[in-house]
Amino acid sequence: MLFTYDTEMALQAAVALVNSAVEPETMLTVEELDAFWDEWGYTGSHVGDEAELASVRDLRPSLRTLLTSTRDEAVPMVNEILAEHTAVPRLVRHGNIDWHLHAVADDEPLATRISVETAMAMIDVIRADEMSRLDVCADDDCDGVVLDLSRNRSKRFCSTACGNRNAVAAYRARRAAD
Ligand SMILES: [Zn+2]
Ligand SMILES: [Zn+2]
Repeated sequence: MLFTYDTEMALQAAVALVNSAVEPETMLTVEELDAFWDEWGYTGSHVGDEAELASVRDLRPSLRTLLTSTRDEAVPMVNEILAEHTAVPRLVRHGNIDWHLHAVADDEPLATRISVETAMAMIDVIRADEMSRLDVCADDDCDGVVLDLSRNRSKRFCSTACGNRNAVAAYRARRAAD
C-alpha cells in the first residue's frame, strides 16, 4: 500500500466524486449520493436531501482543481480548507476500520467532511511528493481524473471503459498498419 488506508479511501472517493461531473454526468439524485456514501464507507451525519446533494455536487470543481494541481499549488488550497473548517486531527476507530484520522466533528455537514478528508489525504500526497499519482485520463476525449496507486505506475485511464476503448483503438491501428 502506497499510503495509509484512510488516505487511499479519501483519495479514491474524491476522484470518484470529481469524475461524477464528467460526461455522462452522475451524482444527479439523492439515491446516487446514498450509493456514494455506502461505497466509500462514510460515517457521521448524512441528511440525504436535495440540499446535501447540491452541496456535495458543488465541491466538484474545487476538488478537481486541487487533485490536478501542481504540488506547490496544492499546498495553499489544502491549508485553506483546513483553516476554513478549523480541522483538528484526532485518531478514531469505528466499524472494522482501525485507527485513522478524522479532523472535523462527525456531525459536520457531509460536504465539509469530504472536503476536509480530501485535504487531509492530500497532506500525505504532498509530503510524500507523489502528486504524479494524480493525472487526467489518457483518453483524448475524456476529462476524468486518474488516481494511480499501483506499484508499477501502470494506470493511465480513469475507468475500465476508457481503458477498453483505447485498447480497441490501438488494436485497430495496429491491424490497419499491417
Ligand atoms: Zn472514519
Ligand atoms: Zn477516462
